[in-house]
Amino acid sequence: MSKVILVLSDGLRYDTAVAGMGTLGHLVEVKLASLFKVTGELPSMSRPMYETIHTGLSVSEHGIVSNLVIRRSTSPNVFQSAREAGKTTAAAAYYWFSELYNRAPFDWIEDREVDGESLSIQHGRFYTQDDYPDIELFASAGMLVRRFTPDYLLVHPMGMDYIGGKHGSDSGEYRNHAIRQDMWLATYLIEWMERGYSILVTADHGMNADGLHGGTTPELREVPLFLILPGIAGKGDTQATISQLQIAPTICKLLGIPIPGTMKAAALV
Ligand SMILES: [Zn+2]
Repeated sequence: MSKVILVLSDGLRYDTAVAGMGTLGHLVEVKLASLFKVTGELPSMSRPMYETIHTGLSVSEHGIVSNLVIRRSTSPNVFQSAREAGKTTAAAAYYWFSELYNRAPFDWIEDREVDGESLSIQHGRFYTQDDYPDIELFASAGMLVRRFTPDYLLVHPMGMDYIGGKHGSDSGEYRNHAIRQDMWLATYLIEWMERGYSILVTADHGMNADGLHGGTTPELREVPLFLILPGIAGKGDTQATISQLQIAPTICKLLGIPIPGTMKAAALV
């Protein structure tokens, strides 16, 4: 049982992460982390995959079938399950997460920064602009860890998706942003590891050369999962391919809380 941080890098392709993210690559190389290839669910869209990652359900099961479905989650999910078990939850994330787990539609003023015992995301810091700088987002996440020591924290930078949408994934801009994101994340990773957090770094979907996602091809579906467990040796590059449906039960297992019966995929740990 441990505290868990999920870094959900929006729009980060598997191959780009492996090629460009040297700090994470180092942790894999020295077996402080395990690397998996995740086959993402469909459609390779943001809001549907946010819900899939947090419920372990496909879109036809949870009903958030497109970015245009604006409502709270109606399925058992990681935030709700953590709260029911008395855990503390937090997120530094795009406002769609507030809509899925706290309140919909999003109130730009009231919902922007929340600290409320009864909320599914108790300590939320939400942004609304796709070009919100990742470096600011990581600082918010760092603050949430130090101030509230949450049992579950979601860290959700939008930079890869924004840059990928603007320049396409076959661009220096997209590839270089992965390098920068890894650099910004590095100091936080070390601090969070020292604090005993289990850390998962993954993505909702990939990106194609046209700067789009939503379809079914490997560059859109294949995303990384770097898994860091405190005090437990990693497996390095496992060469294994896993399902995105396995992430939610894995987080519940790491938190030491009951895995909802709806999360049927096997936990990784
Ligand atoms: Zn996305």
